[in-house]
Amino acid sequence: MFAEVALDLPLYSLFTYSIPDHLADEANEGKRVVVTFGKRTVTGIIVGLSKSTHLKKVIPIKFISDKTPVISRELLSFCKWISDYYIAPPGEVLFSCVPRKSNLSSTLKYELSDGAKEKFASAGLRSRIYDEIMNVFSNADDKALTVKQVEKRSGLSNLKKYFENLSDKNILSQVTGYELPTKEKFEKIVSKGKEIGDYEIILKEHKLRSPKYSDAIKIVDERKKIDYKELAAKTGITLTQLLTLSELEILRVTDKRVMREHEGEYEELKKEIELNEHQQNALNKISESIDIGSFRSYLLHGVTGSGKTEVYIKVASKCIESGKTVIVLVPEISLTPQLIHRFKVVFNNTVGTIHSKLSDGERLDTFDRILSGEIKIVIGARSALFAPLKNIGLIVVDEEHDSSYKQETSPKYNGRDAAVYRASLNNAVVLLGSATPSMESYHNAATGKYTLVHLPERVSDSIMPEIRIVDLSDKDSFDEEEKKDFLETLEKSRVRFLSKEMIFEIGRRLLLKENMIILQNRRGYHSYLECRTCSNVEMCERCHIALAYHKEAGLMKCHYCGYSRAYTGLCSKCNSRAITPKGAGTERVEEELQKLFPRAVIVRMDSDTLTSRRKYEKILKDFYDGKIDILTGTQIISKGLDFPNVTLVGVINADIGLLNPDFRATEKTFQILTQVSGRSGRSNKRGEVLIQTNHADYFVFNSVKSHDYKGFYEREIRLRKELTYPPFSRIALVELKSENLTQAGNSAKELFTFITQSDKKKILNVFPPVQPLFSKLKDKHRFHIMIKSPKDRDPAGSYLASILRKTRHHSLSEISRSVMVTIDVDAVNLM
Ligand code: ADP
Ligand code: ZN
Ligand code: ZN
Repeated sequence: MFAEVALDLPLYSLFTYSIPDHLADEANEGKRVVVTFGKRTVTGIIVGLSKSTHLKKVIPIKFISDKTPVISRELLSFCKWISDYYIAPPGEVLFSCVPRKSNLSSTLKYELSDGAKEKFASAGLRSRIYDEIMNVFSNADDKALTVKQVEKRSGLSNLKKYFENLSDKNILSQVTGYELPTKEKFEKIVSKGKEIGDYEIILKEHKLRSPKYSDAIKIVDERKKIDYKELAAKTGITLTQLLTLSELEILRVTDKRVMREHEGEYEELKKEIELNEHQQNALNKISESIDIGSFRSYLLHGVTGSGKTEVYIKVASKCIESGKTVIVLVPEISLTPQLIHRFKVVFNNTVGTIHSKLSDGERLDTFDRILSGEIKIVIGARSALFAPLKNIGLIVVDEEHDSSYKQETSPKYNGRDAAVYRASLNNAVVLLGSATPSMESYHNAATGKYTLVHLPERVSDSIMPEIRIVDLSDKDSFDEEEKKDFLETLEKSRVRFLSKEMIFEIGRRLLLKENMIILQNRRGYHSYLECRTCSNVEMCERCHIALAYHKEAGLMKCHYCGYSRAYTGLCSKCNSRAITPKGAGTERVEEELQKLFPRAVIVRMDSDTLTSRRKYEKILKDFYDGKIDILTGTQIISKGLDFPNVTLVGVINADIGLLNPDFRATEKTFQILTQVSGRSGRSNKRGEVLIQTNHADYFVFNSVKSHDYKGFYEREIRLRKELTYPPFSRIALVELKSENLTQAGNSAKELFTFITQSDKKKILNVFPPVQPLFSKLKDKHRFHIMIKSPKDRDPAGSYLASILRKTRHHSLSEISRSVMVTIDVDAVNLM
């Protein structure tokens, strides 16, 4: 028998290994194996089995790591699709399915040699430490143990030389074992042993006089079963002492697996919710497909505050009732404590979360709980799509328009699109939800590929906020008599980026004790520093990116690579002091607001201040509890938050990103403005939104102001069609990176020629290589070749995929090794 194995390495091919006879019964698809690859020992996953091979020389598999497959047939097909569609290494995709650090690695272990006890008794080793080590070995369930394991179990340290000694004396023997870097966690449970009735006599016989023994025994006798930790806390008994009692069969010590779970900080009051008419209609429509168990894609377009989460929960309930399982994808798990909390309230511990902040232990336990069927609902960021759930009935993609569904490292898949595919494999329903659907998804709904479900109104008595566009280029549009005094004083102190309207409205809300969200989608204090003497802009040494000034840290930082240097106040080129700071960031906004409103409680939230998820949840809780007046920050605060007392949302500069060289720039601006506006007025108090811009006449602001998604869509989709941008085409980016600019440029030209020549049917639109906006990142010069594949001629993208596969192959064999080539299908980041 032979196995096709995908290795946990960034390689594009599968490898064939033979299966030794003694492993033949165990070898199944979806199990992990340990194999030799060159000089290395690596883990792989069996993706196929066959009786024969045309290969001459095949080496055997060394080891099969799993008792049951960790990847089902269904998940194997899913991964194959991802690997084919996104031109990604199959092993890399497959290993997204298993927890990192759960692959076996080889380690040195020890076990008792034959006749170890007798040898030990006659060796005359004096130190108690040897007894302890022997004790651990004789009590262990697993024969072979590492030094570390023994240290942990005995509570002793630095045991290495004792092991060496025991091994020299042939009491312990060395074995090479395979070890999980992350282990299951066990708790010791103490219960009654056979001899408990005679414990007093036995203790006396063995001169065990410490009262700890009898105390512990009495407690166990009474309680029948007790956690070791609790027993130790009560009586002071040590593990070694307990193990002595266990050897005398007075007590029994057993291991019980405990599951580690990530606890969230965020909580809110539980509400009894009855769906309103629109929600009920949505539920009914979606339930049809759940009931018959057929694949169907729904787009839930619900305005902000329309109660989409409730719909997800009710559909999920239906699914669970029919014995199926559910995946809920969210853009960034740490930004979604509210949604997780609401699901947990309803589904308790059948909910599991998967995200990057889990410890390795939590990750492993969650994985095992999913495999065992204990977890039925998995909530997580895009990688949760690879969860090994069986019998999936529903996949929810919340905020489906969010660009973080696209993974920017290999495998460069889009979680939203892949969700649709995985749902189809399961005959499941996929439910994409958003207040601002992506052009792609809404187009799919408009053309009938998806079923559109609409929630046109906010729940209960809240209505959409009133939105005002403040034209920053208009000098003084504000002159009502009553506000004059206030404004005059203000005029002296105010900064240009805060309009009078903004300041006035913030002041008013503070008096009313209402809460505010102020968005500035840019970190730091100033976005760049320019010298008036020599026009130098302080740049990152590694990237083609201006350094942002961070006042608190006293640093100039590159927001791409993290490079930073101290801010000296002098131009680094000409030493002039004449430095003009440009562009306010969140730090500056916070500072100015605090100057203007010294008594307001203002909290800034951006990736500089959010060092942990706990901190984030704490801030949200404080905001929910009304302890914070103003929450200011980057787009982090624009997403999904639901706080009833927010009545003002302010956008300091709506133009950030608007003029980016990206065909989605307008769409992104529309989304972020609509989303952040949606945080305002979510209960009975009417909300207001102030959006500051220098381009007030641009159509996107009008659409935002009039809550007109449809109007925006129609206008934007026409532009996309004219220029054959997605959804009318697929876009793939071939990126070339090298420290050597000329080499990168030449290789780009060569690859461009290759691609155009491969496009024999002349279906593709291949653009000559250009240097993108960030022409250098982390010391590497970059070139992009953009390929558009019109959907009318290549509907499933298979023609594009075939050309890209050739391109990949060609670049591996023909392009200089100093140039790195990556392929990004359905690229989202074009800069
Ligand atoms: P969305 O995600 O659509 O912006 P949410 O799902 O966060 O909106 O819901 C907004 C608020 O309305 C939440 O506090 C939710 O508990 C509440 N809510 C949802 N449905 C109802 C309903 N039918 N009646 C009353 N309140 C509701
Ligand atoms: Zn200068
Ligand atoms: Zn940099």
